[in-house]
Amino acid sequence: MAVYDTIVIGSGPAGLTAAIYATRANLKTLVVAGAVAGGQLMITTDVENYPGFPEGILGPSLMELWRKQAERFKADFVDDDVTRVDFSQNPLRVWVGDQTYEGKTVIIGTGASAKYLGLPNEERLRGRGVSACATCDGFFHKGLDVAVVGGGDTAMEESLFLSKLCKTVTIVHRRDAFRASKIMQDRVRKTKNISILWVTEVTDVLGDATVQGVRLRNMKTGMTSDLKVHGLFIAIGHTPATQVFAGQVAMEKGYIVLTPHDGYATATSVDGVFAAGDVHDFRYRQAVTAAGFGCMAALDVEHWLQKHGA
Ligand code: NAP
Repeated sequence: MAVYDTIVIGSGPAGLTAAIYATRANLKTLVVAGAVAGGQLMITTDVENYPGFPEGILGPSLMELWRKQAERFKADFVDDDVTRVDFSQNPLRVWVGDQTYEGKTVIIGTGASAKYLGLPNEERLRGRGVSACATCDGFFHKGLDVAVVGGGDTAMEESLFLSKLCKTVTIVHRRDAFRASKIMQDRVRKTKNISILWVTEVTDVLGDATVQGVRLRNMKTGMTSDLKVHGLFIAIGHTPATQVFAGQVAMEKGYIVLTPHDGYATATSVDGVFAAGDVHDFRYRQAVTAAGFGCMAALDVEHWLQKHGA
């Protein structure tokens, strides 16, 4: 089998944008799209902050358009998961089951998924008031009451963002102390419309078509109560999809570490392997930033191939 100029792993905004840029640069491109293709936007309803869609667009519809655009320029697609990689020599090798693919370069765009509490009604009401992204969905709760679960920096950041849009924000945290940085905690404590429920867990999400409230349990007393809210923001961390790259490329807390050098902003610890989107970026986590990183990775690949005469 011919060696690909680049193998893109992942088919969210980062991967598909990388594929569009790579194929339009005439690079022979394989996209290993994943068994569940499309990334986080496939489980998102209305997307109102992706530029170019003044009326908003449904997440899956946006990904369908994105995929069509990538296919138009003749990238090869494999709709399955990568099962193994070997980046110890070039060509770099990527396995999907028994099938081996070889690439001069690889772009990793496998993303990260938000952690949820695992409650049945939380799953049912996802996109209908349950969200893991205040930047994406806070606007839908303008002037209303919302709750945020978590005690880390993300929970603080989400709460501060929501406090500017919503009537009240209630942080529900399972312990009696936050793990967030002191400066973020201070900002939260100084914000008048944010209140905190300590040592409390969310045991159920209430509502038929949309979120109407949450059921809470005080973990010290065992007392249960209901809190009326229109939105529930889960901020208990993310899991980057990087297990298959363990031992092959440098990572920190499961995220791929970028090691920019020689003008390659998206370079990783392995020469010829680049990364784009939420798989390395735990800070911004937006479709538009992931797309931007995908573009950068494809341009880096193009320059790398030129430099190596490949
Ligand atoms: P995190 O630091 O791991 O915090 C997760 C929080 O969720 C913890 O408070 C944890 O509670 C809680 N939690 C976890 N599982 C839970 C469950 N099943 N039920 C209820 N609560 C649960 O995650 P993060 O806040 O997303 O931050 C990730 C990393 O990014 C951190 O290193 C953070 O500093 C960084 N970050 C930085 C910034 C910034 O600098 N502005 C912004 C965002 C993120 P416990 O405390 O009880 O474990």
